[in-house]
Amino acid sequence: GMGLMKGRRGLIMGLANDKSIAWGIAKALADQGAELAFSYQGDALKKRVEPLAAQIGSDFLAECDVADEASIDALFHTIATRWDSIDFVVHAIGFSDKDQLRGRYAETTRDNFLMTMDISVYSFTAVARRAAAMMPRGGSMLTLTYYGAERVMPHYNVMGVAKAALEASVRYLAEDFGKDGIRVNAISAGPIKTLAASGIGDFRYILKWNELNSPLRRNVSQEDVGKSALYLLSDLGSGVTGETHHVDSGYHIVGMKAVDAPDI
Ligand code: NAD
Repeated sequence: GMGLMKGRRGLIMGLANDKSIAWGIAKALADQGAELAFSYQGDALKKRVEPLAAQIGSDFLAECDVADEASIDALFHTIATRWDSIDFVVHAIGFSDKDQLRGRYAETTRDNFLMTMDISVYSFTAVARRAAAMMPRGGSMLTLTYYGAERVMPHYNVMGVAKAALEASVRYLAEDFGKDGIRVNAISAGPIKTLAASGIGDFRYILKWNELNSPLRRNVSQEDVGKSALYLLSDLGSGVTGETHHVDSGYHIVGMKAVDAPDI
């Protein structure tokens, strides 16, 4: 790599396996010299995350369930025992009851609505506040969103409502922390086959639809997202904050794809 992240330290939240978007981002950052810490959700994931972290030179792992304030506090306490400051944080976390990621949005229960908003939206704000306190020289924060926040997509349902709130919170956080030299952005990724995505109804069809209808006529990879994350998390993105940056093969700009017109 070119060393764009040399001397920079940061936290990656949401690595589950080698299909995770967080993995594409972590690899792109490590390749440019970043020093990484990882948080994982529960002991079951530790044995998956540990060897991945080791592959890119990190042994700095800590458990964190973002539904639990004490767990987030414990994570940042652990980070502070080893590092006195950080330069960036990546929040690649979302969750909803998969039984409600199919069928009608109208059937969303109150319990699942609140849980989805808590884990997929509030957690970024909770993390941002603590991360900012460890960024005395400024920094960069990044979360992951999806086009279902802006337009109705099949089966995305309550997750689309949550991502809309997440994108709004990115704008408010960007204003709150901007005066401290801290930038806050989101990447709106096109569909990628991951553990979380497998919970969404008809996901294979959604992938195919995006492949056929996006300007680039292909789906994006974890590596595509990683490279754009590198831009937003490094000095290359120094003038960018409050942004939702689409890494989706251009799908979001299409009203209707051009085809050889049929006779009508
Ligand atoms: P993934 O399953 O690899 O990652 C989701 C992560 O969320 C997992 O590591 C999981 O442990 C973590 N998580 C869930 N609940 C948690 C909790 N209570 N505490 C701590 N961690 C918790 O899937 P992914 O697709 O890489 O998802 C990462 C982010 O990207 C999510 O926000 C997702 O909505 C977003 N995204 C995904 C796609 C896609 O098509 N895969 C597209 C756009 C946006």
